[in-house]
Amino acid sequence: MVRIFIRTVYIFFLAFSFLSSKDYYWQQSVNYEMSVVLIDSVRQLACSSIITYKNNSPDELNDLYFHLYPNAFQLGSVKSRDYLNGYGSESRAVYFSDGLDGYESKIHIREFTVAKNQEIVLDDYKIDDTVLRAYLKTPLLPGEEVRIDIEWNHHVGGMVERAGYYEGQYNMAQWYPKIAAYDHKGWHAEPFHAQGEFYGEFGRFDVEFQVPEKFIVGASGVVKSGDPGWELVRVDTSADFEDWFEVFEDNYQEPDLTKNRKVRFVAENVHDFAWVASPNFLYEHDIYDGIDVHVLYNRINANDWNRVVRKRSVRALKWLNEKFGKYTYPQITNTDRLKSGGMEYPMLIMDGSDRESLIVHEIGHIWFYGILGNNEIDEAWIDEGFTTAQTRDYMMDRYGPIGFDWQSDDWSGSYQRKFWTFNNKLHKDQWRAIKYIVSGYDEPISRKSYLFKNSSSYRQNAYTKPSLMLNELKYILGDSLYYKSIQYFYDTWKQKHVNEEKFVESVEKITKRDLAWFFDPWLHDTRVLDYEISSWKNKKNEGGSYDISVDIKNLGNRHMPLLVETEFYDGTSDRRWWNNYDWNIKDTFLYSVPSKPKRVTLDPDVQTLDVDYRNNSTNLDYKIVFDWPGMNYEPRDKILYRWLPSLFYNEPDSYSPGLHFQRSYGHWEKQSFRFNYATKKNFADNKNNFYWYYSGSFKPVHSFKNLKLNLKAFNLPGLSETNVELEKIKYNDAYKKKPKQTYKIGVYHQFSIDTFRTNLYESGDISAFYIKNNIDYNYVSHSFELVSSISPSSDWGFTKISFMSDVKKSKTLRSENILRSIFGFTNSGFRGRFFLGKVWTASIAAPRQISFNPAGNSSSSMYEKSYLRGVDSFFGLNGFNAAYHLPSDGNIRALLNRDAIKTDVISSISAEVYFLNKKVNVDGFFEERIINSEIALFSDVGFFQAGGEMKSVASFGLGFRFSGKFFNKPLYLRVDCPLILIDGEEISNDKSLILSFHRSI
Ligand SMILES: [Zn+2]
Repeated sequence: MVRIFIRTVYIFFLAFSFLSSKDYYWQQSVNYEMSVVLIDSVRQLACSSIITYKNNSPDELNDLYFHLYPNAFQLGSVKSRDYLNGYGSESRAVYFSDGLDGYESKIHIREFTVAKNQEIVLDDYKIDDTVLRAYLKTPLLPGEEVRIDIEWNHHVGGMVERAGYYEGQYNMAQWYPKIAAYDHKGWHAEPFHAQGEFYGEFGRFDVEFQVPEKFIVGASGVVKSGDPGWELVRVDTSADFEDWFEVFEDNYQEPDLTKNRKVRFVAENVHDFAWVASPNFLYEHDIYDGIDVHVLYNRINANDWNRVVRKRSVRALKWLNEKFGKYTYPQITNTDRLKSGGMEYPMLIMDGSDRESLIVHEIGHIWFYGILGNNEIDEAWIDEGFTTAQTRDYMMDRYGPIGFDWQSDDWSGSYQRKFWTFNNKLHKDQWRAIKYIVSGYDEPISRKSYLFKNSSSYRQNAYTKPSLMLNELKYILGDSLYYKSIQYFYDTWKQKHVNEEKFVESVEKITKRDLAWFFDPWLHDTRVLDYEISSWKNKKNEGGSYDISVDIKNLGNRHMPLLVETEFYDGTSDRRWWNNYDWNIKDTFLYSVPSKPKRVTLDPDVQTLDVDYRNNSTNLDYKIVFDWPGMNYEPRDKILYRWLPSLFYNEPDSYSPGLHFQRSYGHWEKQSFRFNYATKKNFADNKNNFYWYYSGSFKPVHSFKNLKLNLKAFNLPGLSETNVELEKIKYNDAYKKKPKQTYKIGVYHQFSIDTFRTNLYESGDISAFYIKNNIDYNYVSHSFELVSSISPSSDWGFTKISFMSDVKKSKTLRSENILRSIFGFTNSGFRGRFFLGKVWTASIAAPRQISFNPAGNSSSSMYEKSYLRGVDSFFGLNGFNAAYHLPSDGNIRALLNRDAIKTDVISSISAEVYFLNKKVNVDGFFEERIINSEIALFSDVGFFQAGGEMKSVASFGLGFRFSGKFFNKPLYLRVDCPLILIDGEEISNDKSLILSFHRSI
C-alpha cells in the first residue's frame, strides 16, 4: 500500500514536472471602445470609454482596479512625494520642486458604471491618487464578463515625463482610465511612482478621435475610418527635400479652424494605446515585409529626420525580425516627440531625436515590452535589459567595436574624429557597471523599480547590468544557441505576459542545461566576478608538444566557465573552455598544445564582467596614445599609456622641455611620470638640471574597497617633496549619491628649498602629517584641514588648522525676465565662501608655505601650476605670479596688489552675485558656443593679524569672465576690478586689475 502510494506520488510528481508555465497560464481579456474629443483651446480631452472585461482567471473578483496615471502630476501625489524624497530622475524632480506650474494633469471622472448582463453591479468606487477602485455588489466569477462605462475628461498638462503637451504637440500616453493587470499574483494596482513604468492587459482598442482639423494624428493601431491627415503633409521622397519643402510651405493652406478631423484607429492584441497630434507634422511612409512604416516628424526637425529616420526604422525592424522573430503587428509609427528622450508603446514610438541607437532601442521595445509584456515595475530588467543589449549588438554589428556612427554622429566634431581613440562600446558599458558594482551601493537587478535607492541605481539595474548579463549568457551559450533560446522564448510567449521564470525556463529548455547558477547570482544577489591566473607553467614533451598548467583562482564570489586562450610565437592560438568553475575557488587547468606558448589569457574577448582584467593574462597588452585633450579612452583589456610634451620656464634653468607619461587602468590605477630637462646649465655645478615628478594612485579591488593609496615624490625647480597618503572616499561616480565625502591622512617631507627658483617657499625642511576632510553636498561643501610638524626632522615647528565652506547656487532665468529679455542673461547665481584659519608656531611667525595669504595664492596651490612657481615662471614675464590670483586662503582679492603679506590668524568671507550669458536652444538646453560671458558683483571682507595687530579690510568690485572650449579643453579668463577698498578706517579707490585663468571662489 505504502509502495503504491509512493509510486502514485512519484508519477504525479513526474507528470507535473513536465508541465511548463505555459500549461497553466491564463490572461484576462479586455476590449476598449473609446471616443476622444480634443478641445485644444483649453488643452482638454472629453472622452467616453466602454470597456468589456472578461475574467479568464480561476479567481472570483470582488473589485476592479483602474490606473488614472495623469493624476500623478499633482502636488502631494505619491509620485511628487517620491521625487521630493530623492527618488527618480533629478531633472524630472525639478518640475515638482518648482511647484508644477503649468504641468499639472488630471483625469476627471464624470460617470462610472459597471454592469453584468445589463444589470448594474457597481456598489461604489473610490479614487486614491492614481488608482480607482470599483467595489462590486456581486463578484465577477471565472469566465464572466462585465461592461464598464466611463465618461471622463483629461486636463492635459505640460510634458514632464513621457506624456503631455509640448510646444503645440500632444504626446498622449497613459492618458485614459486603464484597467490594472490581474495575473497569478493578483491585482497590480500600484500607484504611479517616480521610478517605474507599466504593465497592462492585452486586448483590443477601438478609438475614435475628433480633433481640430489642423492636427495630424498618429496612433497605436491601423486607420479604420476617417483621415489622420497624413496625405496632406506627405513628403515627396523622390524629390530633393529642400526644394520640396519650399514649395510645400508656400502652398500649405492652414485648415479651417472651425472644422474637425475625425479618424478611428483599431489596435488588436496590445496592452496599451498611445497617440500623438501636432499641426506641424510631416509624413513619410515605407513598407517592410508587409508592415507599414509611418514616420511623423516636426517641420523644425525635418532636416534631421527626412528619409533617415524612415530608413533607420526599416533597418531596425528587419534586424529585430531576423534576430528574435517576426513582428506581430500590421504597422509601426515612429513619431518625433520634440522633447529629448524616447518612449515605447505598442506599434508606436516617440523619439526625441533621429539618433539611430534611440530608434533601435525604442523599436526593440515593441518586441520586449510590447509583444512580450513583462511587468515593467517588478522586473524592469526584462524589457530594458534586452533592449539595451540588443541596441549595443546592433550598433556594434553595424559600426564596429565603437558602436556608433562616428562619421555622422552629432557629438563628435572633426577634431575628435581625426585624433581620438574611441572606446569599445561593450567595454564602456562594462566599466560603467563595474564602477557601480564595486561602489558598495550595488543592489540586485530583480527589484521593484521604485525601491531602487536612486535613479542611477535604477539605470544600472534595469539597463546596464542585465544587458551585460545577457552578453555573458551569449558568451557561454554561443551566438546560435543564445538566439535560438530567445526566439523560442519569443515564440512561446508572444502577446502574453512574461517574467523571469518564463525566460529562464525557455533558455533551459533549448540549452538542456540548468542555469540557476548563472541567473540567481545575477538577478537576486550582488556579486563580483574576478578570476586571475595566479601562476602558469609549460613543459616541452618529447614529441614537441607542450603541457601547460594554469593556476586559476577566483578572487570574487561569482562563478563562471572561462574561455582560455593560449597564444603561440607563430601568431596562432588555441582556445578551449575551462569548465571546472562550480564550487572551485582554486583550480589547476592542465592541457597540451602543439607549439611553444607565449601567453595565456582568460576570457580573451572580454565578454564577462570580470572587475579586474589585469590579472586575466600572463602578460597583459598595453597601448600607447597621445593624450589628446578631452579624450577619455579607457580600454578594459589593456594598460593605457598616454603621453604629452611638457614645458616650463624659470630664469636660472631657462626653458625645461620634457615628457609627461600616464599609466592607467580604469579607476583601479593611475600613475603619472614627468621628466624635464633644463636647457641652461646650473651656475653652481655647471650641469643641466634634471627634474622629475611621480604620482601614483591605487585602489584595492577586493579588500579595503573604499581606500586609495596615493603616492607622490618630485624634484622640481625650487622644491623636492615626498608624500604618502591614504584616502577614503564615501562616494562613487557611478552611484552619484551626495554628499561626496573624502578623508585623507598623510605625511610629507619637503626639502632643499631653493628660493632662486620659487618665491612661494621660505628655506628650511618641513616634515608634517595631516588630516583632511571634505564633504560635498549639492550646493554646499565644507573642508577641514589639520597639519602639524614632526620633530626633529622639521626645521619649522607648527600646528595649523583651517576650515572652509562654500556655497554655489544658480538658476535659469525665465524668458520673460527683464534680465533675460533685455540684457540677454540666461542665468543668474550666487557664490559664497567662508574661511577660518590659525597657525600655532614656536617661532615668531610661520614660514610663507605654512602661514595664510590674506589675498589667496597659497604656496602649495600656486606651486602646482608650473607657470606660477617663480617670479618669472610664466615664460619670463616678470612678476606674473604676484599679479595672478588663485582662489585659496583668505581670498581677499583687493590685497593682491599690495605688498605680499602673510598671517597666522585669519577669517574671511567672499560673496558674488553673477549674471551669465550662455547659448540656449529652443528646448531651453544649453549648448556650447565659442564664448560665454559673465558679469559679477563681488565683495571680500576679512579680519587677520598683521604686525601683531588685528586688521580688518573690505573690498567691493566688478568682475568680467569669459569661458569657452578650445580643442575640448575648457578655457577661462577672469578679470576682477576691486573698485573700493576699506582698509581699517581708510577708504581708497582701488583701480588695479586682477587676472586669472581660475575661478574666483
Ligand atoms: Zn527602454
